Amino acid sequence: MAYVITQNCCKDASCVPVCPVDCIRPVGGAGSFTGTEMLYIDPNSCIDCGACQEECPVGAVYYEDDVPAGLEFFRDINARYFEQHPLEPDHSAPPAEHGRVSPGALRVAVVGAGPAGCYAVDQLLGVDGVEVSLIDRLPTPFGLVRAGVAPDHQHTKSITKLFERAFTNERLRCYFNVEVGRYLTHVDLLAHHHAVIYAVGASRSRSLGIPGEELPGHHAASEFVGWYNGHPDHVDWAYDLSGERAVIIGNGNVALDVARVLLASMETLADTDIAEHALNALENSNIREVVVLARRGPRHAAFSIGEFLALGALPDVDIIVASDDLEPEPDDDVETIVKLEVARDYAQRPATPGNKRIVFRFHATPTEIVGDSHVEGVRVSPGMPDAAAELIEASMVLRSTGYRGSAIADVPFDDASGTVPNDRGRVIGGVPGTYVTGWIKRGPRGVIGTNRTCAEQTVARVWEDFDANVIQRRLPERADLDALLADRAAGPLGWQDWRTIDTAERDRGRQASRPRVKFVAVDEMVAAARKS
Ligand code: NAP
Repeated sequence: MAYVITQNCCKDASCVPVCPVDCIRPVGGAGSFTGTEMLYIDPNSCIDCGACQEECPVGAVYYEDDVPAGLEFFRDINARYFEQHPLEPDHSAPPAEHGRVSPGALRVAVVGAGPAGCYAVDQLLGVDGVEVSLIDRLPTPFGLVRAGVAPDHQHTKSITKLFERAFTNERLRCYFNVEVGRYLTHVDLLAHHHAVIYAVGASRSRSLGIPGEELPGHHAASEFVGWYNGHPDHVDWAYDLSGERAVIIGNGNVALDVARVLLASMETLADTDIAEHALNALENSNIREVVVLARRGPRHAAFSIGEFLALGALPDVDIIVASDDLEPEPDDDVETIVKLEVARDYAQRPATPGNKRIVFRFHATPTEIVGDSHVEGVRVSPGMPDAAAELIEASMVLRSTGYRGSAIADVPFDDASGTVPNDRGRVIGGVPGTYVTGWIKRGPRGVIGTNRTCAEQTVARVWEDFDANVIQRRLPERADLDALLADRAAGPLGWQDWRTIDTAERDRGRQASRPRVKFVAVDEMVAAARKS
């Protein structure tokens, strides 16, 4: 009997070092990114000890006999991975641990309290003596775990438990509700810290560069995600959900999140922490069909198997796959083969009258968003010379074509990639002591746990520079930063303030029989924190 990794896998890989027989793959050393969408357990080597299940921060590991309904296929996927990649001993060296330093010998500012920043903080504080200031412009930490992960993926949000140890460390000071660029400059940060690690993510959406993008009814999926998750920047948006069909351009995991949320039942959504305004708007939504458009074929679909497979279990929703290009090719990897298998299964399922539908279209490149004063549809070109362009009518179009980072004042920026140029996390062309981690470093790719190895790589550069005496110097007292913020009338909130907000949101949730009811305006969050 064996344990099985399932859909929720966040690739944080906490399970890997605790496995006594080293049977979880793929693994990579510090900073090496493995290509698969998730991790797998070799059923022939697993000794059933359950250590991986205990360690998994998001509840993705199940005993073979306890795999919940709808996830059974993962037994097969775990096994098939090892048919293609027989288990070999792992010779990659674990990340080198730095020895303790004298108190405050290294003080680091981490900007951005999303998963990328949190992993960096956790790793820095793992070395005795290191002091860290964690700064975020919002009063709430956890970045995309709070404002990006889909509300029906509550399990994934439990990753935040991993960071509790770091947040309660007395060498950490949190400065939430403090915007760098407004209250603090890069120069200020370097005056008070030996190093600054930017973990500010990639919050802008890529545009399509086609006519009609300016039409009302066309939005970035990233904004829609921020809206339903109650991100203060996006709560004032209004979405027209009066039509029956929405089109999503792009078929990555964000597209699938949005498609599910658009069609989910009220019972499903009411059981989540979706923002109240979104719950109310979706209750009155008329949307019954979501068309997910891809410019390439099914083999190149950007969604991951787990997310694609899970769609098949949505109540009262049919998954329609419109493609005759679903056969594997000899050198396809196991994840592609399985994706195509799942797609073939969907393609053969009969439609159920009265059900809502998610329709996957492939080889359909959007060429124009059509409409007079509002979106009326998307024109797509099938990419084949003789085939005619087609108009897909829709009252809402969401482009889910990936994210872009924004430039940080006084830090180099590569506009083409939307990232900060860096060598394994050390900023190239910047002032010594400047580093990046997460999406602003490597682009908008990978799942939450990918940030762990990413942070290991960046933190290793900080230690290299520390040991080479590049960033060591005498700093002002820690309290001087607080004094500076007070002078500038910033109102920083700390970890306990967030705990107060968190408790208040959960209390509101209890009254509404929901996991939490979020505050969605910065003022409300600050008021809740100050109430204590
Ligand atoms: P993504 O995975 O990069 O997908 C972007 C999609 O947009 C692709 O299908 C891409 O097609 C398409 N696209 C890009 N430019 C286009 C254009 N001009 N016209 C038409 N299509 C275009 O991005 P994402 O969905 O935003 O996800 C970002 C990251 O977050 C991913 O690593 C994802 O796995 C992760 N994420 C994970 C989860 C989860 O695990 N549940 C949830 C959300 C996000 P091409 O492939 O042809 O370029």
